[in-house]
Amino acid sequence: MTATAQSLRLESLRKTYTARGREPFEAVKGIDLDIEPGELVALLGPSGCGKTTTLRMIAGLETVTGGKIMIGDRSVGDLPPGKRNVGVGFESYALYPPLTVRENLAYGLKARRAKDATARVDAIAERLEMTELLGLRPANLSSGQKQRVALARALVRNPPVLLLDEPLSHLDAGQRQRVRRELKVLQREFGYTTIVVTHDQLEALSLADRMAVMDAGVIKQFGTPDEVFDAPADRFVADFVGEPSITLLPGTGTGDGVRVGDAGGLRAAVRVAEGRDVVVGLRPQDCHPADGGPGLEGTVLVFEDLLEFGLATVELRGVDTRVVAQVEPGHPVRAGDRITLAAPPERVHVFDPASGERLR
Ligand code: ATP
Repeated sequence: MTATAQSLRLESLRKTYTARGREPFEAVKGIDLDIEPGELVALLGPSGCGKTTTLRMIAGLETVTGGKIMIGDRSVGDLPPGKRNVGVGFESYALYPPLTVRENLAYGLKARRAKDATARVDAIAERLEMTELLGLRPANLSSGQKQRVALARALVRNPPVLLLDEPLSHLDAGQRQRVRRELKVLQREFGYTTIVVTHDQLEALSLADRMAVMDAGVIKQFGTPDEVFDAPADRFVADFVGEPSITLLPGTGTGDGVRVGDAGGLRAAVRVAEGRDVVVGLRPQDCHPADGGPGLEGTVLVFEDLLEFGLATVELRGVDTRVVAQVEPGHPVRAGDRITLAAPPERVHVFDPASGERLR
């Protein structure tokens, strides 16, 4: 039974928490998001940036201070949660303690008099590796097991829109990978329009068609994982997305590139006015020992051999900053080596130091 995929649109969505005796706090500051039917979007951002609040507003578990939530062409902001046709996999969304896992999963289905409830529950349980849990009660489940039950409960109802908050965080590494893959397969198969909140970049990259990167109640960038990684909209996104993280350095424009103090310069794909102060971003993956041409000179402080590649931490000449560079196998470097680092011009990210925005 395939859910009819629906678009999900947020328009200037806002949330201000007001608690007695406390200053009002604006947790979500007017966000827009346009999600295609059947698309999987990862909502990524640091702790406290408003991810969960956003999801709870879409689900109807939190009141909306301003703005609109559209599912298909219906505005759902004023509807109670049960009328929104949204599946919710939140950890805090309690299971009914007196019921077994099977009864918990079938609960919503029975209420809707679904004839194939048992078969649906069995099929989902098998795919999420939890058949053996069906007879247990919530009190006897581990946190990882509870999490899979919460995920199954959201999926079993076959919702057109699925909202998941850190759905895999309590699973061990192996199971997390397998359940993540199965989640993606199920999502593709049934076409749920999905938002997954996650801290985990790898999870976001592997699951998402597009990622929304959020900071302090604002969406900083919404794009495919490649777009976000290759052209971060500002220095926050550049710094937040990418593992190991990007190096940010103070620099000045040279017209066709940037200079980093006495260490040297790099060509950039954007024009950077001569003498303009900028912040230069270099990802370790894009930064390599150069065989001549322009580059940044420095001394290797440490070299970490990670088998498939190595990471060299390089102290730049005359600049109080270190750069991390990825070194391919076969080109080992050693602590104390003097090297010149280069990066392809389109991989030299340049940001305005005041606004943090990417120069284009
Ligand atoms: P995490 O990744 O840690 O779960 P998050 O991005 O999901 O964080 P939210 O839980 O949405 O963040 O919280 C956003 C901000 O709103 C936080 O600063 C939080 O302290 C605040 N907040 C959340 N719930 C309430 C509430 N009921 N009353 C007042 N402030 C709240």
